[in-house]
Amino acid sequence: MAAVAVPSGGPGGPKPPAGCEVRAATPPKGFGLFACAACPAYTEMFTEEPLFAMQHSGNRRVVAACARCCGFVRSVPLQLEVLFGESRFAPLLAALGDLPTRWQESAGEGQAVVVRCKQGCGEIYCSEACRDLHFQHSHNLLCVGPLTEDHPLLRFKYHALEHADTLLLAAQVFAFLVNRARASGGGAQVMQELMQELLCFCHAPFREACRPPPGRSKDAEFYAHTDGLVHEAAALLRAALEPHAPAEVGALFASGPSFFAEVLGLFEYNNIDLEVHSPVGPLLINRAKALAAHISTPQAMTELKQLESLLREKEWVMRCVWGEETTGIFGDEADVAQDGADAEPMDSLMKAAEQGNDAEVASAAMAQATAEVAQMSLEQLLQGAWPAMHGTALFASVARMNHSCAPNMKVAFPGNSARLTATSVLNISPGDELCICYVNQEADVQTRRRRLLEYGFTCSCSRCLSEDSATLRKAQKRLK
Ligand SMILES: [Zn+2]
Ligand SMILES: [Zn+2]
Ligand SMILES: [Zn+2]
Repeated sequence: MAAVAVPSGGPGGPKPPAGCEVRAATPPKGFGLFACAACPAYTEMFTEEPLFAMQHSGNRRVVAACARCCGFVRSVPLQLEVLFGESRFAPLLAALGDLPTRWQESAGEGQAVVVRCKQGCGEIYCSEACRDLHFQHSHNLLCVGPLTEDHPLLRFKYHALEHADTLLLAAQVFAFLVNRARASGGGAQVMQELMQELLCFCHAPFREACRPPPGRSKDAEFYAHTDGLVHEAAALLRAALEPHAPAEVGALFASGPSFFAEVLGLFEYNNIDLEVHSPVGPLLINRAKALAAHISTPQAMTELKQLESLLREKEWVMRCVWGEETTGIFGDEADVAQDGADAEPMDSLMKAAEQGNDAEVASAAMAQATAEVAQMSLEQLLQGAWPAMHGTALFASVARMNHSCAPNMKVAFPGNSARLTATSVLNISPGDELCICYVNQEADVQTRRRRLLEYGFTCSCSRCLSEDSATLRKAQKRLK
């Protein structure tokens, strides 16, 4: 019997990063990324821009990020307006007055920069360059600024916000392909070639690649639901794009929604979570230090008090608002069960409130958060985390890198953007396959296996095998 094939990509596709090559890996793995030259451990091997990237819609409620590069828009006033957007925070913002503007300027970064889409759709950018690049990339076909409520593109966006963020990213891919096809002469043939290029990455229809929500299995009802929402999204997107480019869009939907579903499945296997850290926290720490140095003046004293009350409200937001919805990272069923066992009481209160829709429980949870936050010292408040930008992105190199539970590479987003940095964590020899860990590397073998099933395979690397036999030995000991 043949080994179960790991979902894998094929040849072709975007050029690999300098110093690397894409070729067939040892079966059952398909293609992989390989080093052409030696590289010592803990060395930056390459950096890379995403092919497609998007901030999670829930994260937009707490972070103002650039719609193109996903970096924080450099404006302390805007970041605070977004984070404290609920009316309950209006008095807080009013009390701050022009302090946020002064904090921005005191950071030595000059005035706040916020660039908006010229067509008034509400998208924001870190710079005019990002706005123009985004427009050329895909936004020219996806901007809802000039549209009426009943336009299929608007209906598509509402549908996506209701069901799945990645539908928006798939729309970005489709618009980008239309733009590229037209730039290379246009027509169905050109489009088919571009579609083929994308399918070099590991993919499967969405219904196969997606993971059901906790408590659901992939039964007939689940498939019907998934197919229904993908078909509806595909029909709306087709109606929205077709008037712009009938031949090219006709090719994209030549077999109904199936290419759209393959792109969504491709994201399930290849996309990685983006996390860009907030520049606001470090900026305010510096401001607090400067104020502490002049604490004898009443002005500095007042400002420090205001800064402190802002930080206290932010801590409250982190306890009551920050979570799965705003990070886009949802645990699986077993994670939820584990969380329940050792979570803070606060956490379970919030969960109970969400599940039971119990206003009393919710307000008790919020009151508890207020009490906890009231106990914090200024020092603790300054150390507290600020909401990060969370999103999802497709990178050509990551899509080519296979998994290892003991990887030789790691990827991170050290700058204020979705630009990825890939660093070696072991010594690398020419010809070595470059691997990352798709799941939490610290997790035990059972958890890793469960998580890796979402990528369509069961890991039997040497680490998994040795941990497996260790678990077995423990179990046997207990049985004696
Ligand atoms: Zn930008
Ligand atoms: Zn726009
Ligand atoms: Zn493994």
